[in-house]
Amino acid sequence: MECAYCGSDLARYDPVFVEEATGGPDGERESVGGFCNYACLHAWVEDEALVYGTACEWSPDG
Ligand SMILES: [Zn+2]
Repeated sequence: MECAYCGSDLARYDPVFVEEATGGPDGERESVGGFCNYACLHAWVEDEALVYGTACEWSPDG
């Protein structure tokens, strides 16, 4: 498995795994992926925030 942000092999790290609420009625969660450390997790979150910021009217119901 690779870091969802930088693509490093997680076997060489103490990885951080993230789940995200899908917004479904049952509070379902889906795995976002693993990160090799919190620095990558933080960088990924910031990138995701930028994506959401440019698509603020996006809706899962489309
Ligand atoms: Zn990484």
